[in-house]
Amino acid sequence: MKALDELTFDNRFARLGDAFSTHVLPEPLDEPRLVVASNAAMALLDLDPAVAETPVFAELFGGHKLWAEAEPRAMVYSGHQFGGYTPQLGDGRGLLLGEVYNQAGEHWDLHLKGAGMTPYSRMGDGRAVLRSSIREFLASEALHALGIPSSRALCVIGSSTPVWREKQERGAMVLRLAPSHVRFGHFEYFYYTKKPEQQAELAEHVLNLHYPECREQPEPYLAMFREIVERNAEMIAKWQAYGFCHGVMNTDNMSILGITFDFGPFAFLDDFDAHFICNHSDHEGRYSFSNQVPIGQWNLSALAQALTPFISVDALKEALGLYLPFYQAHYLDLMRRRLGLTTAEDDDQKLVEGLLKLMQNSGVDYTLLFRRLGDESAELAVTRLRDDFVDLAGFDAWAQLYKDRVARDGDYSEEQRRERMHAANPLYILRNYLAQNAIAAAEAGDYSEVRRLHEVLSKPFEEQAGMEQYAQRPPDWGKHLEISCSS
Ligand code: AMP
Ligand code: MG
Repeated sequence: MKALDELTFDNRFARLGDAFSTHVLPEPLDEPRLVVASNAAMALLDLDPAVAETPVFAELFGGHKLWAEAEPRAMVYSGHQFGGYTPQLGDGRGLLLGEVYNQAGEHWDLHLKGAGMTPYSRMGDGRAVLRSSIREFLASEALHALGIPSSRALCVIGSSTPVWREKQERGAMVLRLAPSHVRFGHFEYFYYTKKPEQQAELAEHVLNLHYPECREQPEPYLAMFREIVERNAEMIAKWQAYGFCHGVMNTDNMSILGITFDFGPFAFLDDFDAHFICNHSDHEGRYSFSNQVPIGQWNLSALAQALTPFISVDALKEALGLYLPFYQAHYLDLMRRRLGLTTAEDDDQKLVEGLLKLMQNSGVDYTLLFRRLGDESAELAVTRLRDDFVDLAGFDAWAQLYKDRVARDGDYSEEQRRERMHAANPLYILRNYLAQNAIAAAEAGDYSEVRRLHEVLSKPFEEQAGMEQYAQRPPDWGKHLEISCSS
């Protein structure tokens, strides 16, 4: 294991030069202190978890110190926001500190969010508040633990620096890790500013570093785009299967790697609601829960447009056509697992849809329903769950179909069924009200709740003794929390 000063840097993105990013130093936070660190993320950098508690850790990730080999840069990009093109975006408050290699040969971008003003700050102050930093930290690590591709988070550093949002809050920084911070919007920027040489350089960079296997294909760029389509379809299938609502699926928030990226007013569903909108400035529901599926394709089309200098329109269209079938296949596979099925039948999609419709009409908790369904035999489970539904005749009809389907699926013991289903159905998810409780305590200076919640969410499928309160439906006050979009 490594000490903090033993990280190995190789800043490949920075070497692309000033057309791609600008050198900016972090602006330090006052009285930096550790709020929470992820041991699992520390391990990605081969760091000894104990170093998180040392003062130098908070100084490094609170913007006071920098490794000699680090090369802090603000990246330039653009993107489609709520359907309209914004020609100039970029890291307005985050810095790519550098790329670090671990012993396994993987490289990780260190990105410090909330690090102060950059040439891309526009009207913003370059800061992030404690509230939003904690939310990003918890979500990144919780999604990863659920098996949903996501950027990771090493730590949150709190401070006494005042930051003005709707009210005065405190500044914080979150250290984000990802194999790349290139977004769809990077490609759009060079396409719309008509810089074909830089765009080609960017495409080569991404291809060589992140999609090297596509080099073997007759059309490497097309192969890469197909792979991006498939990864996005898979990521969004996982969001839908586990009830994650991203909230701001602008193309500047879409990673070229198909990982969940840039957390804002996201939410996990409590009650199942296909029309749920977690972003309260999203008045038209462009990014509502069920719209995430078509928006995924819309975003890929925006990327495709930016790739027209490299790939023929027909080939791009054909690749885009793969999105929905990929999505459907991944989604159905996950939902079969959530229902405890090991085989595939043609009507499984209908079985899933039938259940979701009943849940929608009765306001049933999305996470707990599936967990409880796996607690015992199908027969006993549906009998117990029946009380949660309003349309009893409808539920009984569904329950009969389900029991018959389970009987055809195979002959396995209750124990086998439980084990398999519990491995696919989390007990603990990052409910907004849980995050809110942890944030309120942290804002008052007590970080124990953030740390405990992070711990619980790192093993979402395992029942943990004494942690029952983290597996509850929200209390009334926590049901439809309006999460501030200011971050
Ligand atoms: P977001 O909605 O967080 O994805 O951000 C959209 C754009 O606004 C990005 O270019 C961000 O860097 C920028 N931005 C967001 N908040 C701030 C802030 N407080 N200061 C400067 N830029 C910001
Ligand atoms: Mg963003």
